[in-house]
Amino acid sequence: MSLDHAHLLEEDSALLGQSLHALAERLYPICRSITGPGVRETLKILSEFVPVKLTEIPSGTDVFDWTIPNEWTIRDAYVADHHGNRVIDFQAHTLHVLNYSAPVRATLSLEELRPHLHTLPDQPNLIPYRTSYYKENWGFCLSQRQLEMLGDGPFEVCVDSTLAPGSLTLGEILIPGKSEKEILISAHMCHPSLANDNLSGLVIATALAMRAEALNLTHSLRILFIPGTIGSIAWLALNEAATAKISGGLVLTGLGDSGPLTYKRSRNGETVVDRAAEHVLAHIGEANSVIDFSPWGYDERQYGSPGFDLPVGRLSRTPHGEYPEYHTSGDNLELLNAEALAASLQAVEAIVSAIDGEAVFQSTNPKGEPRLGKRGLYRQTAGQGGAVPDEIAFLWVLNQSDGTHSLLDIAKKSGLEFKKIRGAAAALQDAGLLLPAA
Ligand code: ZN
Repeated sequence: MSLDHAHLLEEDSALLGQSLHALAERLYPICRSITGPGVRETLKILSEFVPVKLTEIPSGTDVFDWTIPNEWTIRDAYVADHHGNRVIDFQAHTLHVLNYSAPVRATLSLEELRPHLHTLPDQPNLIPYRTSYYKENWGFCLSQRQLEMLGDGPFEVCVDSTLAPGSLTLGEILIPGKSEKEILISAHMCHPSLANDNLSGLVIATALAMRAEALNLTHSLRILFIPGTIGSIAWLALNEAATAKISGGLVLTGLGDSGPLTYKRSRNGETVVDRAAEHVLAHIGEANSVIDFSPWGYDERQYGSPGFDLPVGRLSRTPHGEYPEYHTSGDNLELLNAEALAASLQAVEAIVSAIDGEAVFQSTNPKGEPRLGKRGLYRQTAGQGGAVPDEIAFLWVLNQSDGTHSLLDIAKKSGLEFKKIRGAAAALQDAGLLLPAA
């Protein structure tokens, strides 16, 4: 489908899913890496939908224990036989070149070429994804089947790339709310043609930014499009003071496969995002799971390094490394399920809303139940519109609001949806029955 701005604002889940998939289709062919033109081209496309601010950090800049590397530009790469036929061709798939390959032009036998070739003997039809960011090297990735048909050479080998001082690009969106406090959403954008691991997070974060107005958040929403590891470390180094404003956040990745949702807890494990995500996942599907923090995975490791210890968890479907297509050419547009993409976005919106709406209240009338009827909060007749929260939500909020239980605690205890509890609290506050806890 062709895609315009309105498609990503779609309310209908099926149409929304198709739109998210269509945006992924546009981004899929681009050869991204941790630096370089592929990253800027990706951000330029996302900017057609929502304004993205770019920050360029020069090569050689120190960011904590790391240094911004030289910038990588790839124009072409191939291995050709003596007839000039390209037997490995970057133009056919971006995964065919070792990501960050140094330039090379040579004529080599298979024996000489072989140490530079990467395959997956156990998945003989798939091309692996390999990188060499911090050790200069060159190479090609190909399927085992392709390798077996190569012949002995000699081969003409070409990687037409540049590794030279340039910059690392960060993309950032800030949607100001009524409060200075922020909710952080982070998606990596350093993978070449890989759909679930990379593009699913990018398209969902982009749509979230476009749809944020409808969520009517008090918090400001900050969305980062960054290369994995070095990008989050660089952002943290440049924005250390601002991290104090983060109430909660999510790293988004692997949200388009057909598996159930998996939330990975923040380092602390008991922060508002942990409570919000656990609540939302429990309400939207029994197969969903919550796993503990570990210092392995994506950028949650950096947000959760001990010097920051930010309340940032990770939302995925099947965890990375646990689906066979992970980091191979099998992670393609067919793996991306449009319905799953839409449902993931809706889960992210629900988690963001729950972080935003979390609060602790105190009943102004704690001795006995206050009379709801005289305040117009008790339904006189059954079957009133769904906008009126159920009385049971009022009773739960009034009973538990003693200045210690938060709305997410009450949602958990009552088994009611956070939205209902939040709505009841707002109505009770308007009626003067609740005050924010001191
Ligand atoms: Zn990855």
